[in-house]
Amino acid sequence: MRKGYMGKVLFVDLTTGKIAEKILPEETYSKYLGGLGLASHILYEEIPKDADPLGPDNMLAFMTGLLTGTGSLFTGRWMVAGKSPLTGGWGDANCGGNFSPAIKRCGYDGIFFKGISEKPVYLYLDDHTQELRDADEVWGMDAVESEIFLENKEMGKGKKPKVACIGQAGENISLISGISTDKGRMAARSGLGAVMGSKRLKAVVLKGTKRIYPNKSIEMKRISKICNKWVQFQPPFVSGPLTAPVGALMRILPFVLAQDGILYKIMLKKWGTVSMNQMSPEMGDAPIKNWGGSSKDWGMKKSYSTNPDVFTKCEKVKYHCYSCPLGCGGICTTKGKYSETHKPEYETVLSLGGLCMNEDVDSIFYLNELLNRAGMDTISAGHSVAFAIECYENGIINKDDTDGLELKWGNSDAIIKLIEKMVVRDGFGHVLADGVKQAVERIGKNSEKFAILAGGQEPAMHDGRMDPGFALHYSVEPTPGRHTLGSHLFYEMFQLWKVVKGVPKIPLLYLKGSKYKNAKKQAEIGTVNSKFMSIVNAVGACKFGAFLGAKRIRIFDWINAATGWDKTPNEYMEIGANIQTLKQSFNIKHGIKPKDNIISDRALGRPHQLEGANKGRSIDIEEMMENYWELFGWDNKTGEPKQDIGNL
Ligand code: SF4
Repeated sequence: MRKGYMGKVLFVDLTTGKIAEKILPEETYSKYLGGLGLASHILYEEIPKDADPLGPDNMLAFMTGLLTGTGSLFTGRWMVAGKSPLTGGWGDANCGGNFSPAIKRCGYDGIFFKGISEKPVYLYLDDHTQELRDADEVWGMDAVESEIFLENKEMGKGKKPKVACIGQAGENISLISGISTDKGRMAARSGLGAVMGSKRLKAVVLKGTKRIYPNKSIEMKRISKICNKWVQFQPPFVSGPLTAPVGALMRILPFVLAQDGILYKIMLKKWGTVSMNQMSPEMGDAPIKNWGGSSKDWGMKKSYSTNPDVFTKCEKVKYHCYSCPLGCGGICTTKGKYSETHKPEYETVLSLGGLCMNEDVDSIFYLNELLNRAGMDTISAGHSVAFAIECYENGIINKDDTDGLELKWGNSDAIIKLIEKMVVRDGFGHVLADGVKQAVERIGKNSEKFAILAGGQEPAMHDGRMDPGFALHYSVEPTPGRHTLGSHLFYEMFQLWKVVKGVPKIPLLYLKGSKYKNAKKQAEIGTVNSKFMSIVNAVGACKFGAFLGAKRIRIFDWINAATGWDKTPNEYMEIGANIQTLKQSFNIKHGIKPKDNIISDRALGRPHQLEGANKGRSIDIEEMMENYWELFGWDNKTGEPKQDIGNL
């Protein structure tokens, strides 16, 4: 099939052991593309409305992208989706590495699991075999050990298989657990590791060799060659610690120079996402001290220990995800128990660092590896710790509750011990092992005032008080609390107005204050972001690639070249709108009230901060959300789609 996609999906019933493939018509791909688009169509239909997220009726989908393996660039991400046990609604997570093409090489665009196995199993697929195999030997191992064990066991002749698996956190049904590939890369969000653990599905092991054919391979190569030129442009750049004053300057200036993603690409290629470790707190982008602090509490001296150069100095090798010409990943050597770890992401450094006022970078390296191996989301884990520290500092809990740990801001020894306990659900670790929402229920005593959540999920390390787009997307997305789906800054970098007709254009220079005054414009930008990111997550693209701009990274042209279709960017944006509506409809079907997903008051500047970069700012989230819903054609008061699902 020369269409980029494989034309079929696999259904695995873990209760009965039945495995069956289903051929999908071209119309399905034309309407939902692939990845999370295709998953939203199938999961909306297949998961009954009262399904327990940890019960047999929930489904877990492993999806590859429509563009994965077609010769396009930045398109090797795989996605997992299902009903989230953390939020009770649509849940998805996304990861790079090399697992996505392995799904296609087994002949499928997605693998859907339902039911619960009696004993631990893993799914093994190659060109001729589809089998659930006994996972007794590997149950109890961490994610890295599991992957190595299964690689060796299923090696046979030829290349190593690709493995996605859970660690102890998923096995222990931690609601903040994720799914790991490439020895520690995580599809971390939405608690989908717990769904895998509840199904007693330890791993998915893939060893297919099928070829993936784009429809127009010469055109595909031509477009990719042009895109690659933009990625390879890499002038010399400032040293790591100099990123901090740049951030401070951005804080002070009353105007904003609209960001061209080329600048971020240069930083990403040089350092990875840790390039933002010092710049973000200075700008007001990084939440500090459980969202109660600011750049005044976490100044340049404190953030210096995590300056970007610290990470490149111990980086023994850089790596690229599949089909990525940029390569923001790396393996770092570390001190202590683990000799190496994936270079921590910015999200990890800030959630275990500034959010907990922890300056000890060695503890961050250690916890990064510990959490990756356990398969626990670093963003949610860091939030849970910061929440507990604030409870402790305010006398809501004491040493009797914390197994003797002195949970003070910045006490790295206590933070390490607490997270070690969370991973194995030991003592006070159990209280925090399912995230902040569950911890509030377990602690009680008015502790919810220190809980920072959006729809039950901990938000990421980007502050909506600085960029109201983050506040909007945290609150309005079907998977709340996610930083990967849009912001004002994202919109500037996507530069969609250069290829999509009728969407707002951002001027090169604008007054900073204007971002906070026009809820209608922010909502309009938000809808365009959501539609576009629905496409990005349907084709398996990396948003860092998309940041280079729609004219340089030509996702719409790649889709046409891969499939042979001849759709316009505006037609693809309509598909993105339909996917977003399907995910929102999934939430309505499962009893979610969209207004309940609004992020906590503190993260909206209610009350506003008295100092720091976001001093005096508060976000009118309700007005933004109502405008966003209206622009999608949903009820502007309830957020319920009015569209007929059968026509999407
Ligand atoms: S930019 Fe980074 S995360 Fe994205 S595909 Fe490339 S290596 Fe992976």
